[in-house]
Amino acid sequence: MSIPIRSLDPAPLTVGETTVAPGSRARTQIDLLELADGTKVRLSVAAINGTRPGPRLYLGAAIHGDEVNGVAILAEALADIDPARLRGSILSVPVQHPLAFHADHRIPLSQFIKSPLDQSPIDAWTCFPGNPAGNLAETVAATLFGLIHQCSCGIDIHTPTRGGRYVPIAILPSMALGAGAEAAAWLAEQFATGYVMKTNTGMYVGNGILCVEATKAGVPAFTCEVGEGGRLERPIIDEGVRCVRNALVGLGMIEGERWLPAVNHVMREFLGIRARRGGLLHTVAELGTEVEPGQVLARIVDIFGDTVEMVTAPAPGIFVRATTLPTVSTGERAATLGLL
Ligand SMILES: [Zn+2]
Repeated sequence: MSIPIRSLDPAPLTVGETTVAPGSRARTQIDLLELADGTKVRLSVAAINGTRPGPRLYLGAAIHGDEVNGVAILAEALADIDPARLRGSILSVPVQHPLAFHADHRIPLSQFIKSPLDQSPIDAWTCFPGNPAGNLAETVAATLFGLIHQCSCGIDIHTPTRGGRYVPIAILPSMALGAGAEAAAWLAEQFATGYVMKTNTGMYVGNGILCVEATKAGVPAFTCEVGEGGRLERPIIDEGVRCVRNALVGLGMIEGERWLPAVNHVMREFLGIRARRGGLLHTVAELGTEVEPGQVLARIVDIFGDTVEMVTAPAPGIFVRATTLPTVSTGERAATLGLL
């Protein structure tokens, strides 16, 4: 099958005030924001410019500030890419929201605490294509979109926020977007996590989401979720690195073998299952496994030791996201299935 991603001829690559010649790589920063004391917040970008025609791949992580696994994944996946042998080019933004990363929180919490009424929208991930004259989140999105728009495809790496753990999963933009979404699905197949969400409902496919707006703008992209927020884990990083390298090989940008999972689970919808009772949450099912209706996913035990609720699967699916917080209150998410 031919590669359904636009190829660009070798040419100097401009990132902010830095020009990266074919056959070279650079780390640079571009202006993003100014804080109250005049401190400039800049966005760090790694660019690798190849010497032969090929796709220009956008890679981003940590648009939510506690999602650090993706930062390490991008650093390690790109460490030994030789620009002299690379086909195409790579723009990598390991920390897409520096203020949130600084706070080690999903959003730059200080901004929200300072003025909750004025901060909406709070989440840059949902504000694409952004607005350079907008609030903080919209400004961040607009700057990122300026980079994304130069590329021919993209991958946006996340983890759940603190207290959640995902299987490695590629979440596609809605197939209703047509050929661009089909190209994003092809890219996710190259990435090969073994878990793919192909849905047309829920927050991941809503207007304003990074990969959705990128795909609409002609840059096929998908969201990857992997591991757990607020933690840096060797096996998760290794898995992510393998997947990024898989994508580079699939795109024809580097030579090598792709690592493929034994099974590829394709799901149609997320189903979050919420606790009806409060207590300690004991997860029972194994993350990533297929579950039957009625199967126990988790047990909620009150603070005196009595089991007050068995959280069960209402439908057949894959147990894709566990809650790793030790406690739940009524209405909080205890588990998430990917419905088959
Ligand atoms: Zn995220």
